[in-house]
Amino acid sequence: MNPWIAKALVLAGTLVLVAIRAPHGRRSRSVKVAASHKTPLETGLLVLAWFGFFVPLIWVVSPAFSFAEYTLGNGALVTGVTCLVIGLWLFYRSHTDLGTNWSITLEVREEHRLITQGVYRRIRHPMYLALLLYSVGQALVIPNWVAGPANLIAFAILLALRLRAEERMMVEEFGDEYAAYTARTKRLIPGVW
Ligand code: SAH
Repeated sequence: MNPWIAKALVLAGTLVLVAIRAPHGRRSRSVKVAASHKTPLETGLLVLAWFGFFVPLIWVVSPAFSFAEYTLGNGALVTGVTCLVIGLWLFYRSHTDLGTNWSITLEVREEHRLITQGVYRRIRHPMYLALLLYSVGQALVIPNWVAGPANLIAFAILLALRLRAEERMMVEEFGDEYAAYTARTKRLIPGVW
């Protein structure tokens, strides 16, 4: 398999991801933050997330990780592209449903509304599921032992350390409304967890 196919896919996926987020990010940032729950741990997790975002791009444009290259198989390519496409679709849907309530970190905006509809109807973290699928897709499509799993590892750490804190913040802010929402939904996988 020609490694340029994987490079083109990673680049295209990143461009779509950024194109989906940019307008939503701009709109959200125009609404004032009412309460910030950002801790030093959160700052560390954001640095880690940026690291996971850039390593695959460094692989695309430089030979820095050429020592860890392997040959991409057709099965991994097809499964990886499927994960990337579903991940990007869910990323788009969750940004549309969350609207200006989105933040890159743990904060609540002025007139923040609890979203429980659309892709938020059955799971509480569809955007994180989207990014998880996207990073699994990258891990499969990038035939490199370092650049491939970089985003997945960074995002898995972020998820492990952020989910509980985010849900604690939401209970503090929305009280019984979030507790009821928690009771009828799962975190990441509908009907499972
Ligand atoms: N965890 C969610 C949202 C990620 S963005 C997901 O994966 O889809 C993170 C911000 O979204 C949090 O700081 C919080 O302010 C906001 N948020 C999380 N869940 C929300 C919900 N159900 N309704 C409104 N805002 C939410």
